[in-house]
Amino acid sequence: MTDEFWMQHALMLAKRAETIGEIPVGAVIIDDNQQIIGEGFNQAILQHNPSAHAEMIAIKQAGQTINNYRLVNTTLYVTLEPCIMCAGAIIHSRIKRVVYGASDYKTGAAGSFIDILAHPGINHYAEITGGVLAGECSNLLSDFFKQRRLQKKLTD
Ligand SMILES: [Zn+2]
Repeated sequence: MTDEFWMQHALMLAKRAETIGEIPVGAVIIDDNQQIIGEGFNQAILQHNPSAHAEMIAIKQAGQTINNYRLVNTTLYVTLEPCIMCAGAIIHSRIKRVVYGASDYKTGAAGSFIDILAHPGINHYAEITGGVLAGECSNLLSDFFKQRRLQKKLTD
């Protein structure tokens, strides 16, 4: 399976977030046998939980699936570059590889805003690949925000 295949899967999850009015970001974690062990999409508003990012939900589910707090030999696919919080969780969970779609110049912690994942001296380095289906991933986000601004205007 290609990176694009799994990013499509993450995009499908992101669209689920969109349908419930959450910022459309989706994440999926696979093991080295290409089996899905965790999935998530943004649910911060729904859960009244600022930490309910797609990656955090997928990481929690993956740990429960494999009964281990270390996610060695796994790959995380996420439609948007991880933030500082999620980068921290990626380091703690020892995820082997991170593949993201759109870059996030405001909060991205894989180099766009700050580079936590490659910070010298951290105790775990994940392999990073960015820009997979970046256009689709960022269009989904910009359409969502455009729509939201429009709705706000109509209700003002
Ligand atoms: Zn995050």
